[in-house]
Amino acid sequence: MAYSTAAREHFAKELAGIREAGLFKEERYIRSPQGADIEVEFPAGAAGKRVINLCANNYLGLSSHPEVVEAARKGLDHRGYGLSSVRFICGTQDIHRQLETSLTVFLGTEDTLLFPSCMDANAGVFEAILNERDVMIADRLVHASIVDGMRLCKAMQDTFKHSDMAHLEEKLREHQDKRFRMIITDGVFSMDGDLAKLDEIVALAQEHDAMVFVDDSHASGFIGKTGRGTHEHCGVYGKIDVITTTLGKALGGASGGCVSGRRELVEMCRQRARPYLFSNTVAPVIVSGAIKVLDLISKTTERRDKLEWNTNYWRKGLKEIGLDIKEGDSPIVPVMLYNAKLAQDVARDMFAEGIYVVGFFFPVVAKGQARIRTQLSAAHDQRHLDAGLAAFKKVGAKHGILGLGKKEIIEKFGM
Ligand SMILES: *Cc1c(COP(=O)(O)O)cnc(C)c1O
Repeated sequence: MAYSTAAREHFAKELAGIREAGLFKEERYIRSPQGADIEVEFPAGAAGKRVINLCANNYLGLSSHPEVVEAARKGLDHRGYGLSSVRFICGTQDIHRQLETSLTVFLGTEDTLLFPSCMDANAGVFEAILNERDVMIADRLVHASIVDGMRLCKAMQDTFKHSDMAHLEEKLREHQDKRFRMIITDGVFSMDGDLAKLDEIVALAQEHDAMVFVDDSHASGFIGKTGRGTHEHCGVYGKIDVITTTLGKALGGASGGCVSGRRELVEMCRQRARPYLFSNTVAPVIVSGAIKVLDLISKTTERRDKLEWNTNYWRKGLKEIGLDIKEGDSPIVPVMLYNAKLAQDVARDMFAEGIYVVGFFFPVVAKGQARIRTQLSAAHDQRHLDAGLAAFKKVGAKHGILGLGKKEIIEKFGM
C-alpha cells in the first residue's frame, strides 16, 4: 500500500504531540494587501477583522506602495506574466539584467545574480564556489537557509560562537592549511535583531586571508545611513566578498533573492549554482517592481529614517511598560517570554486586542527562548505604535509578566 494505516497513524500521533506541546503553528488568512493595517480572517471562516500588523518584514512599507504596484503592472503589460524557462535557456530579459545592475550599484559590489529566492541563493552559492580543499566558518546563529546551503557543499564545515571574534580568530588560525577560508554570517540576525560585527570580521579576514560572506536579508534597504546594509553601518561598504539578500522583505516583499559580490564568484554561480540552473526565472512583474523599489530608496532616505524613528519609539515604549526585550538597534524587537505556550497565549490575546503578532518557539528559536518577535515598518504611524503599546500593557498585565525579567518569567511559567 502506498500510504499505509501505520504511516497515517504515525503522523497523526506526531501532529497530536506537536499540538499538545503547544507548538502547533496555524496560518491566519489575510484578506487585504500587506500593510500597517490588514484584514485578517481568524479562525478560518470567521468574519474579517481589521488589525495592526506588527510582524511583517515590510520594513520600508513598500509591499503595497502605489508606485511599486504601478511599476509591476507595467512589467506585466510589457514583459508578460512568466517566462516558462530557467535563466540560461530563455528566461533572461533585459529587465533581469537591469535589476542586477541596480542591485550591484546599491550594494556596492562588482556583480549580481538573481535567484528565485534568497533561500535558493544560499542553497547554491557555497557549492558553486568552494570544494573539499576549503573551509566554511559560520556564526552559530546563521539563518536556516545558510545551514542548508553549507550542507550541500563539500567544503569542511566549522562554526564560531555567536559574534565571538576571539573564537572566530581561533578558527581562522586552526584552518590555515585550507586552500580558502570563508567566514559566513548574517548581517542582522533574524531572531534577536542584533548586527554582526562586520568591521571586526573584515579585519580578521584580511589578517588571516579569508573571504567574507554576509546574508543581509534583514538589512538591505534600511540598515546603514543610506540603507545599503550592515556593511554600510559597520564602515566596510565595498569590502564584502559575497552578499546574499532577498527581495522578499524590505525590497518590495514579493519574492526573489540574489548573490552579489566579487565578479568571478558571481560568475561561478551563473555557471554552477544549481537553484539558478534548475529553477524558473523571477517573474517580470517582480523584476519591474524591484527596479522601482531600488529607484525609490536610492533617491531618498525618508523611509529608512522614519523606520528608525519608529524603532526607537517602540523600543522605549516597551521598556517603559516593563516588558523584557532584546536590546539593539534594528527594527526587529523581540519580546522575550521564554515559554512557548505563554508566547502563543500572549499572541492570541494581542490579536483579540487588534494587534497581529506571532509567537516564535522551537524549532524556530532554541528551546527556552520563546518570544514574540515584533517588527517595525515605515508604514507605521505613531497611532499604530501607541495602539500596540496599549495592547501589550493590557495583555502583559493579564498574564502578570510586566516588570519581570528572564529569571522571574521562567520561575512562573517554566521553559
Ligand atoms: C528571509 C531570509 C532568507 C530567505 O529569503 P527568501 O527570499 O524568502 O527565500 C534568507 N536568509 C535570511 C537571513 C533571511 O532572513
